[in-house]
Amino acid sequence: MTSTEIRRRFLDYFVKILARENMEHIEVPSSSLIPENHPTLLFTNSGMVQFTPYFLGEKDPVSDFGSKRLCSAQKCIRTGDLDIVGTSRYHNTYFEMLGNWSIGDYGKREAVRFSFDLLTNMDYGFGLDPSRFYPTVFAGNEDAPEDLETVEAWKSVGIPEDRIPRLPASENWWSPGPVGPCGPCTEVLYDRGPDYGDPESVPGLTDNPRYLEIWNAGVFMQFNRDESGKLVPLAKMSVDTGSGLERLSVLLQGVESNYETDLFRPIIEKTASLVGPKYTQEKLSKDFNKVADHIRASTFLIAEGLFPSNKDQGYVLRRLIRRVFDDCVWKLDIDSSRIIEIIPAVIAINKERYPEIDKADFIKDVFQEEINQYKLTADRTRSYIRNLVKRGVTEIAKPFNIYQSLGASRDLIENIANEQGIDKDKVDFSNFDNDVASHQNKSRSNMSQRFKGGLGDCSDATTKLHTATHLLHQALREVLGSHVHQMGSNITSERLRFDFSHDTKMTDEQIKKVEDIVNQKIKEALPVNKTVMSKSEAEKTGALHFFGDKYGDEVSIYFIGDSIENACSKEFCGGPHVKNTSELGSFKIIKEEAVARGIRRIKALC
Ligand SMILES: [Zn+2]
Repeated sequence: MTSTEIRRRFLDYFVKILARENMEHIEVPSSSLIPENHPTLLFTNSGMVQFTPYFLGEKDPVSDFGSKRLCSAQKCIRTGDLDIVGTSRYHNTYFEMLGNWSIGDYGKREAVRFSFDLLTNMDYGFGLDPSRFYPTVFAGNEDAPEDLETVEAWKSVGIPEDRIPRLPASENWWSPGPVGPCGPCTEVLYDRGPDYGDPESVPGLTDNPRYLEIWNAGVFMQFNRDESGKLVPLAKMSVDTGSGLERLSVLLQGVESNYETDLFRPIIEKTASLVGPKYTQEKLSKDFNKVADHIRASTFLIAEGLFPSNKDQGYVLRRLIRRVFDDCVWKLDIDSSRIIEIIPAVIAINKERYPEIDKADFIKDVFQEEINQYKLTADRTRSYIRNLVKRGVTEIAKPFNIYQSLGASRDLIENIANEQGIDKDKVDFSNFDNDVASHQNKSRSNMSQRFKGGLGDCSDATTKLHTATHLLHQALREVLGSHVHQMGSNITSERLRFDFSHDTKMTDEQIKKVEDIVNQKIKEALPVNKTVMSKSEAEKTGALHFFGDKYGDEVSIYFIGDSIENACSKEFCGGPHVKNTSELGSFKIIKEEAVARGIRRIKALC
């Protein structure tokens, strides 16, 4: 069964099959990978994230979706264990989570029955053999009793008592924090047989690969834990479930790892086709896996408008791309200009479900630009270390200095040192991570880093073009509409380049209008002002901010005009800018073109 069909069957079950008994669910589209209004969460990491306000009773699912029963296939990113990605068969940075939800509608009995039906039914379900199921249930402790209702629910669909393992709170109790909603959960383990390991008397207690967890078939939000630590039953129970599409594909496609499913195979085959002849595929499967995983995650993140940067989500993207470079160039011998040829394989697999990623040129551009920047760092690092070696140096006592002066990552320093003949154990990384962390904290407070897109130097020419970019952004919104958002920006001393969301080619008349508006503001000789305020205050001013970027608690806003209220442009920005628009002289658009579907690019000068 293909992954596309698995996803379709999952959603159809809740939307169509359950309609036969008037229990139909509403399918809600995947939300963005970058969660809105979630200050503590960098990325959407489960299907539940977009529904949190409904579970907390802050929003009403019936008025927003038309039902208390929902289902979805959600794009997710988890970055907690980047270092085991590729080595572990079941961990991915990007993955897709299938789930169904009852927000104060049905309870345990139905949740169990639905998951059992979908997993086992031969016609509309996955046709799995129920005699291999071990649904785990909460064993009970001093806080809350054994979850007998769920035990009964599993027995009523035909699972014998002795195949229902009771597990402690560490495995089968869900709580997002010390207070708030919480409750028991039930997970379906699938016994893959003796080839995968010895049987256990209580499956689920250890990480025995024989028992594959295929569905968290119900997190039952049944209690609220109050400040004193006491559990108070909630008036209405809610249900949250989640099953990884990758994991189900492993089982239903009869393969051994996520990377062997149809979600990954074409990506790995493309990578293999680029690998230099001196390597064997077998030896390097771990590196193939990692490259495939990271390129897949990067593709989805760039498609959502995220750019590599030194902050938050942008920094994760930067790390992913740089790790791909390290692996491709150092381990797989792939030329750094050819790595982006892998991206279309990711798009081909996913574009039908997620059409937003169908913009190969744009994604390749962003990816390659980061690679190029990193490659410069690699070249500088190489000549630096080569010189050390020439002078007879045989060890690097403080690699942090290379990081600080050249921006080279730990992997890069290690690889290049090695390439230049310095042994791995002669590079002392013992304090490296600490030094980097404290260095990054210092740079974070440096607001001037916030300006996106490579304001390489702060010469007069680039500063002027930066201010012109703000005027251009505003003028485009006036002429084309408020759907125009900055998607990227790059400034050199010769020109500005501005990418923005818009569907159609601009007419000559529109281009002229935009130029006229910018030139008018230049003529009015308006002051450019900066103000710093809290993020929540800043948002109230209506200042534009870069889609996908996350800001600290204090932000600076540049506005053009006498006051922020009547400013003709206001943006979250770290500067630098000219003092007065009259310094710009005159503004001219030299090119308007498409970068990707829905994204246009302007090059201009002043
Ligand atoms: Zn700016």
